Amino acid sequence: TYEQALQQGKDFLLEHDDYLIVSHVQPDGDAVSSTLTVGWLLSCLGKKFTMLNEGPIPQRMHFLWHADQIVNMSEQPLDRKFNAVICVDCADFQRVGLTENYFAENAAILNIDHHPTNNGYGSVNVIKPDAAATAEILFDLLEMMDVPVDQAVATAIYTGLLTDTGGFRYSSTSPKVMAAASRLLGYGVDGPHLAETLLEGMTLSQVKVLKRALDTLALSEDGKVAWVYVTPEDMIATGAANEDLEGIVNYPRNIHGVEVGILFKQINDNAVKVSMRSAGKVDVAALAHAFGGGGHVRAAGCRLDGRLDEIIPRMVEQVRAEL
Ligand code: 5GP
Ligand code: MN
Ligand code: MN
Repeated sequence: TYEQALQQGKDFLLEHDDYLIVSHVQPDGDAVSSTLTVGWLLSCLGKKFTMLNEGPIPQRMHFLWHADQIVNMSEQPLDRKFNAVICVDCADFQRVGLTENYFAENAAILNIDHHPTNNGYGSVNVIKPDAAATAEILFDLLEMMDVPVDQAVATAIYTGLLTDTGGFRYSSTSPKVMAAASRLLGYGVDGPHLAETLLEGMTLSQVKVLKRALDTLALSEDGKVAWVYVTPEDMIATGAANEDLEGIVNYPRNIHGVEVGILFKQINDNAVKVSMRSAGKVDVAALAHAFGGGGHVRAAGCRLDGRLDEIIPRMVEQVRAEL
């Protein structure tokens, strides 16, 4: 059961003395907040720990407590490996990216996640597929372990809930999520400020790259699949960072009658990142999974080798076959 899994998670956190905490590549709000929340938990237990990501933390999350202490290994390589690793919000082992280089051989892994496609790669797995965010699971863990909650960690947890539910709007926004959000507000979280910082506010580059992406909008003949794409030239011309692409996929998906919206991003000469959003009829997690990716029923992604002109028709065909 979930309670037993939480208990095993607790035992893992008590058992070792020196932990590596990692989340997925191109971290989102849940990945960052979950990393920080585990860091808080371990510091309350008096444990040693290092927070690590393959790349940088998105600028708009830098204000979070201790976000500057999440090591970006592309800038600051570590000098040793760890025997105990905690992976948060990583649907499969590949999602940890290059941070794997710092896992000792046979390292013990605690896998805490909410993706239904998670395959249980940890030595200990705390997976709750109906949780709205990994942060929701961590809030349960904190309360179960009687770890104190202050405004800073409450803000981190709220950030994970807020971003992974699209501002408490997706179908994952359960009564439990709202009750958790309510308790978090009680700890002094500034909800409107977080909504502005994390969801509403846009960089100029973000608007510019959105403008170019929308210019590429295309629909299948039946109007049920809509997509946009972004090229390396778009990124350079607009000065956009990867994090500036978040949310773009919602535009094709939000068109009336569209069942699946897709964002294609050419990452380099021979790789395309595919982001999919479903209105509900199509399980995009299963689709993404078939291409080596994963995610949730209504939000999933994968990475394919090739170029936009070949991948777009192939992927659209696959999606149409599901309808
Ligand atoms: P996004 O489209 O915003 O990048 O991701 C949507 C969801 O799909 C997220 O929950 C994310 O974890 C998952 N996802 C995106 N790309 C991949 C991928 O390449 N592999 C896996 N396993 N999951 C992905
Ligand atoms: Mn995530
Ligand atoms: Mn998540």
